[in-house]
Amino acid sequence: MSGHDHESRIKELLDGMTVEEKLGQLQQLAWAWDTGPGGGDTAAAEAAARKGLLGSVLNVVGAEASNALQRIAVEESRLGIPLVFGLDVIHGYHTTFPIPLAQAAAFDPAVTERDAEVSAREARSNGIHWTFSPMMDVTREPRWGRIAESLGEDPYLTTRYAVAKVRGYQGADLAAPDRLAACAKHFVAYGGAEGGRDYNTVDVSEQRLRNLYLPPFQAAVDAGAATVMAAFNTISGIPAHANPHTLTGILKEAWDFDGVVVSDWTGVQELIPHGNAADEAEAARRAVTAGVDMEMVSTTFADHGRDLLASGALSADRLDDAVARVLRLKLRLGLFERPYAEESAAVTGPTAETRAAAREAAGRCMVLLKNSGGLLPLDGPGLRSLAVIGPFADSGDLLGTWSLPGAPEAVPVLHGLRKALPEADITHAAGVPAEGFDTSGIPAAVTAAEAADAVVLVVGEPAAISGEAAVRSDLGLPGAQEQLIDAVAATGTPCVVVVVGGRPLTIGGWADQVPAILLAWHPGIEAGPAVADVLTGAVVPGGKLPVTFPRAVGQVPLYYNHERTGRPYDPAAPEVKYVSKYLDLADGPEFAFGYGLSYTAFAVGEPSLSRERVGAEELRAGATVEVTVPVRNTGDRAGDEVVQLYVQDPAASIAQPVRRLRGFCRVRLAAGEEREVRFTLGADDVGYWTNDPAGVFTVEPGEIHLHTGTSSRTRARRTLLIT
Ligand code: BGC
Repeated sequence: MSGHDHESRIKELLDGMTVEEKLGQLQQLAWAWDTGPGGGDTAAAEAAARKGLLGSVLNVVGAEASNALQRIAVEESRLGIPLVFGLDVIHGYHTTFPIPLAQAAAFDPAVTERDAEVSAREARSNGIHWTFSPMMDVTREPRWGRIAESLGEDPYLTTRYAVAKVRGYQGADLAAPDRLAACAKHFVAYGGAEGGRDYNTVDVSEQRLRNLYLPPFQAAVDAGAATVMAAFNTISGIPAHANPHTLTGILKEAWDFDGVVVSDWTGVQELIPHGNAADEAEAARRAVTAGVDMEMVSTTFADHGRDLLASGALSADRLDDAVARVLRLKLRLGLFERPYAEESAAVTGPTAETRAAAREAAGRCMVLLKNSGGLLPLDGPGLRSLAVIGPFADSGDLLGTWSLPGAPEAVPVLHGLRKALPEADITHAAGVPAEGFDTSGIPAAVTAAEAADAVVLVVGEPAAISGEAAVRSDLGLPGAQEQLIDAVAATGTPCVVVVVGGRPLTIGGWADQVPAILLAWHPGIEAGPAVADVLTGAVVPGGKLPVTFPRAVGQVPLYYNHERTGRPYDPAAPEVKYVSKYLDLADGPEFAFGYGLSYTAFAVGEPSLSRERVGAEELRAGATVEVTVPVRNTGDRAGDEVVQLYVQDPAASIAQPVRRLRGFCRVRLAAGEEREVRFTLGADDVGYWTNDPAGVFTVEPGEIHLHTGTSSRTRARRTLLIT
């Protein structure tokens, strides 16, 4: 069916619907495995579906369960409108890929696009039509547990990944049996919650909203994202669920978004505790008139919609518009033609092929933070024995936040290393628990370390302390893990620490004691083999940090693209200063955005420009400037480098970031190989949004400094003049 046919079908359906049936399409209820506040009532969902008073259900798992419920809606309700089934397929359905933050560390959106296709195939075959992903909340808050679900601190990197994920889930045709509708969330500025406290206040200037938080959403909408989810936070005093400026003014009007805005879980009802609505009727009115189309779990629209219509507080046109958006989604998904999952075709688990994809993705996202003396890779002939130590050495808890119930556990690191090094004598000791303070296992760990040629020490955060509502005030390793590192390092046996987790951790307290540190994040189902690949050199690490690693929690928020300040000022290097020095801490981060080492070495040469000057008007009309950067592998083995391009506007009407990423390219080079990497700069890359609430993007005349290199710690190398 074409878009035009969809619109006439929508009109026809609307003409035949009662007010209750219309309100029913705006209702999403939760299936029983999830028992959050107000949700998880299977019987209620079935009863509402039977009466034609339900539009969508979330958290149904399995083709059989979704078909049974769908049959009620299609065969027993008056109009037979199919339900749309949603689920948080965040980084996998059966095949769990690395957490999103880790994916961003690969600086390789193409791999993520492919992996999103795998997730879409697995989920759709099981009756899911709609994933509440991608999460594209830019965040500068490592204390915030949901940083694990994010793509880090940079709006450009986030945008590139957001688009890749939308494409990977949706493909060209949402009605295809292996595609999912995407949901760009959380709209908007959720990552800016004060102190990293989940769901908390966000007071944000218009320019920051538009330059930092909105770009990934706009790109996702341009890429065709079918739905958008409202955020739990306020935006400058107005809850995102009741915010006409963002939901209607920007999203639906300026960006022409014709898809569904879904609330977050009970987000409409929460306008009451927000202090923005006195009761449920007012909450419903505020949310629906601001632009929310579908209500997740709470039932204020269904309960109060008729009265709101009768009193004129809700217009019939707005109600029809919301319903039309839901019906449009169902038509795009082809649900009227094919409401059921084909049970015999349901994917029942990961395959060798999807496991291989997960292993490759995991290897690509790992970041080598330190490697003194070339301890890594562990491929020397002298390696006869290895002690694999730590609470995460023999653990399957490496999937990270939002893995689905019933998804297979991760393969432990110990298992991966035993397989990769069949000749080596490998011993194991946990040493300490992941979170507790029981140190009674440390002596056995020390004995194992003393007897081995080398140690692999796997430490970090369990999945349970990263993700939603998992906020931490301390970014150190939990429990007694740092004590374990001290004890093992004191043996003198060469030790590589593998860090797992969902956020930047402060590792400065112990980093000096060990020669090598590999950041593995929560790498997903193939964790063990992927860690072994990197430790043994079968895969050369090439990941880079998508977030700044602070030295201490007291520096947070600390991010590379901070605005220029008047003080401190270093004329020799205005662009490399971090704002505010602390008396009791070395300046700057432990590891900067974009940083990551390799087993080989690279030299990035001077960039050249296709032109040295370009008119602002020309740029606005679509002119571009090509930047060419030579990169050479100067080491003795093949490897990947992420060539990065940053821009800086040294004098603008609004204080600008010291630099901002506007291009990156992960290249694989053989030993000695040289290549040229090309970037294209346009108006988007050199201009910025002003504070005008009407949305004004400006490109100002003046210099733009270009930085190219292998991390955000680069110096300006070329100037582009905008006339
Ligand atoms: C989260 C959303 C999620 C929803 C449904 C909420 O608590 O904020 O990101 O999609 O639950 O599970």
